[in-house]
Amino acid sequence: MCGPTIGATSQLTQVRDMKTFVSAAQLIDGTGAAPVRNPLLEIENGRIVKTHAEGAGRPAPSEGRILDYPGATILPGLIDTHVHLNLPGTGPTLEEAMREGHEVMTATSMGSAAQALGAGITTVRDLGAFGTTSFAARRALQLGYGKGAKVIACGQPITITGGHCWQMGGEADGVENLRRKVRELCRDTADFIKVMGSGGGTIGTKSWLPSFTLEEMRAIVDEAHRNGRRVTVHCLCAQSITIAIEAGADQIEHANFLVDAAGRQEYEPKIVDRLAEAGIPVTTTLVVYVASVFHYRSLQRDLTPSEQAAIDRWTIRADETVDYLERMTRAGVRFVAGTDAGWRFTPFDTLILELEIMAKGGHSGLAAIAAATGVAAEVIGADDIGTLAPGRAADVLVVKGDPLTDLDALRDPLLILQDGRPQHITGRENLSPTARAKPL
Ligand SMILES: [Zn+2]
Repeated sequence: MCGPTIGATSQLTQVRDMKTFVSAAQLIDGTGAAPVRNPLLEIENGRIVKTHAEGAGRPAPSEGRILDYPGATILPGLIDTHVHLNLPGTGPTLEEAMREGHEVMTATSMGSAAQALGAGITTVRDLGAFGTTSFAARRALQLGYGKGAKVIACGQPITITGGHCWQMGGEADGVENLRRKVRELCRDTADFIKVMGSGGGTIGTKSWLPSFTLEEMRAIVDEAHRNGRRVTVHCLCAQSITIAIEAGADQIEHANFLVDAAGRQEYEPKIVDRLAEAGIPVTTTLVVYVASVFHYRSLQRDLTPSEQAAIDRWTIRADETVDYLERMTRAGVRFVAGTDAGWRFTPFDTLILELEIMAKGGHSGLAAIAAATGVAAEVIGADDIGTLAPGRAADVLVVKGDPLTDLDALRDPLLILQDGRPQHITGRENLSPTARAKPL
């Protein structure tokens, strides 16, 4: 199955330049392997050449520039596998944001990608956008017409008529129409296919019920695979997870267990076992719930009854998702890191908070970092990024201190390279308040 087309990024904008050597106290390669002590990372023409360990045979980096960061850690640029670039992440609902029209949404997408990059997130995967706006932003960034995280995009998410995010233009029902919709998205250069397997936060949709029949989901997956595209399915209820597993989907987003309109959940260990057995990875999206809690807590006034109800509901959901993450990890389910940035109160620089919440849910620092680098790249089929293996794009992050002792170190980048070129760093003091916050 072919992966996304982000390799094209480097070909379009690559500049041939001199060798760069980066040295630091340690290097985390993104695969989950133990760190390399006192490494020398060699980069040339926007690509990783090699990581040289200490000792004999190490080149004297005389012919290139040397970037030396004593006490720091080198790791791959981070990947946020679940964002919505169209939406600002400053509060508006999807229904409110869409009133501005597609041109504004395209412009918003460029700002979103820039916010991510400034926090060390060198690639984002967009999980649903209006029309072809995410393809337009991806193209502008590939051409170097703006600065931002590299974009991997599905375009419109496929949804039932009136289903979650129907406003984005991806409505289709029935086997024939769904096959056509997949073909249209592939024609329009979708890197992968996103399906709304249940309702969600869009007004009037039912998050506790599956959207497509098994027959319909099978048609989507079959057509996508015939076209070399992976399929990931938004699942907020147990039955939607079962349908995604049976249809042979490649990945699941959220994996919640809602049972009613009030937002109650009932964890289903049997379905989790099936998920683990099928080897289908899940995207976490933990920040999105916590961000809502932070928002209502930050209001400097008495809350209305509906605001108070919202803070209670999101606090419960945030706690449940961490508990489920822990139980599902123990059951053998693999996770990748994604924030759902753009949705409501979730800014694009919050991936480190996501990793900290994952750590609360039992992931080691090394495993959390892998879930946002090497494991993320493998799961989304992006084999040009995510690790510091020779030949990959030199998307590199250097941070102060040791993120394995405390993931908070990731909030202090000293160097961000994209295809070997230094990028602007936001700096801790300019991160959004949510990105600076700690888990609940
Ligand atoms: Zn989403």
